[in-house]
Amino acid sequence: MLGLEPDDGAAAIRRAFRRLAMRWHPDRNGDPAALEQFRRIRAAYESLIELEDESVAQEAARQPRGADRRDELWLSIEEAARGCEKAYRLLSAQCCGDCEGSGWIELARSRMCTVCSGSGRVRGGGRHLENCTACDGRGFSTRAQCEMCKGSGEVSGEQSVSVHVRPGLLDGDQLRLRGLGEAPAGEGEGEPGDLLLTVRLRVHPVFRMQRRELHVELPVPAFTLLTGGKVAVPLPVGEEIVSLPAGEAVAHELRLAGRGFPGRGGEPAGDAVVSIRPVLPGALTPEQRKMLARLEKQFEKEIATHYPEIAGFRAALDAASD
Ligand SMILES: [Zn+2]
Ligand SMILES: [Zn+2]
Repeated sequence: MLGLEPDDGAAAIRRAFRRLAMRWHPDRNGDPAALEQFRRIRAAYESLIELEDESVAQEAARQPRGADRRDELWLSIEEAARGCEKAYRLLSAQCCGDCEGSGWIELARSRMCTVCSGSGRVRGGGRHLENCTACDGRGFSTRAQCEMCKGSGEVSGEQSVSVHVRPGLLDGDQLRLRGLGEAPAGEGEGEPGDLLLTVRLRVHPVFRMQRRELHVELPVPAFTLLTGGKVAVPLPVGEEIVSLPAGEAVAHELRLAGRGFPGRGGEPAGDAVVSIRPVLPGALTPEQRKMLARLEKQFEKEIATHYPEIAGFRAALDAASD
């Protein structure tokens, strides 16, 4: 089951366990029995690890860790603000599907061993003959090295990793995913390195960020600004309904304290700065034009009240001609 040779070292045994675990991982294996199999393999592996705990600790101190891997994790402002589970494609060694990770393909018929040409013996370091390890000295073999993975049991593949993104990460922040870096070099069984992901925030069509302060320019009907009313302000964590008092139809800024980008690590949440830009309606129907013209006549009757700017302009003109 493990595809091991009697004199394989602890490193090979651990690799074989890992291959088996990969093969039976319920995320990869649709077999209903996969979860149970996976648990048993893991339990067996963990007891093996416990037995070797001390020697592994010594080895780890001696053997170098695998290198860290670095990449970027691109998020929308909404994803970063709310937090999310983000799928990340990790290129890594995976269990070879052809040989199911054993490195060997079972042959239908036994075949003469190509290493010892069927003699079962090979010339060793000295002049003497030694048992052929490829066929265990039998001269024939019922299996052949897997061509897909060249006997390593592993092929490079893409693995989808779910990255847990907590709310409030900013562009440039770093996430460390333990053990997802490079495997240690050579046959060493040191710990694998880590995967370091630098958060990158995508440019947003509406939001701009200054650290945690969030800026949004919001077009609002000029009439709503005059009459007062509710407007929906889009924010990364969801829209907020804001009541505007009756006032002037002029551009102005609204600051919503703490409603910008969420805080993190002792840093408080930023404000949301909403730049309100009045817009006038277009494509009026004749009926709507008539209604507006009627309204306009009323405004003109009390020009000093409704249009102080026009009243002032006219007064200045009159004063000049006097
Ligand atoms: Zn042989
Ligand atoms: Zn293979």
